Amino acid sequence: IITWPFVASQRRSLSWVQLAGHKGNFKAGSEGTILKKFSENEKLCFERLQGDALQDFVPGYRGVVQTDGEPFLHMTDLLIKFNRPSIMDCKMGVRTYLEEELVRARERPKLRRDLYDKMLEVDHDAPSPEEHLQKAVTKPRYMQWRETLSSTHTLGFRIEGIKKADGTCHTDFKKTRTEEDVTEVFRDFVGGNTNILNTYQSKLGTIQQALKSSTFFKRHEVVGSSLLFIHDHTERAEVWLIDFGKTTALPEGTTLDHWSPWQEGNREDGYMWGLNNLIRTLGFVTKQ
Ligand code: ATP
Ligand code: MG
Ligand code: MG
Repeated sequence: IITWPFVASQRRSLSWVQLAGHKGNFKAGSEGTILKKFSENEKLCFERLQGDALQDFVPGYRGVVQTDGEPFLHMTDLLIKFNRPSIMDCKMGVRTYLEEELVRARERPKLRRDLYDKMLEVDHDAPSPEEHLQKAVTKPRYMQWRETLSSTHTLGFRIEGIKKADGTCHTDFKKTRTEEDVTEVFRDFVGGNTNILNTYQSKLGTIQQALKSSTFFKRHEVVGSSLLFIHDHTERAEVWLIDFGKTTALPEGTTLDHWSPWQEGNREDGYMWGLNNLIRTLGFVTKQ
């Protein structure tokens, strides 16, 4: 671990955009890099990704650094090559919690008032009579409920957030669920530009191939990870795999196909199924 000489240029702190997660989790790094709050799990993933077929599709990893007495993961800033980019975070998979989180919540249910309130905001009838009485829900209960609203269950991915070139940010996609809903959001995101759409399609095809040949992918439950879409007015367009905070190694000798339906215990995450649906859905953007 090296100590980070913290220099954040004005331009970078202004251009940096974060579409998900807690605001305090990121800091600007040296030119072209960012720092993400350390997690042992994500560090292990970045280490195992070095030399894997997926290496060129994830942010460049520069190790762990200390700044203000806290550890951070040091990685390349994927936005740096773009000029006023449009960005979309698409969370992959048919579920967004780990099996072990479910088990933990069952053994020691931690009741959350804040999540109950969030549930009410969306649908007053969502909590059960018991949950209304205790004015609280557990985190997996909240996450499972959220997944039934979005396209996570029906399509195996969901849109988390979008920032457009004009600076507007949208994170309210909780109820973007059907293929039609998603197609409409994609159409708006690319502003009907078919060159950008085609580039995205071809990048996703390349990613699909890389996933198929990746040892890392076979041996990990990939939950809560996103595809980050970035384009700008020059029609440069890229897709990257980010966020391995909940990506977990499987027991020695076991693998996933990332396609089979999830049943508690099989650890399937639906990533490949979701990617397939995502590619098909993007194809509808120009066909309507
Ligand atoms: P959550 O688990 O809630 O999704 P998190 O704290 O794990 O959040 P990430 O999902 O890794 O954080 O990143 C949050 C956002 O920050 C992304 O949606 C993206 O907008 C931005 N981001 C993350 N990593 C990079 C990167 N290497 N380059 C550019 N932008 C990034
Ligand atoms: Mg994320
Ligand atoms: Mg995360």
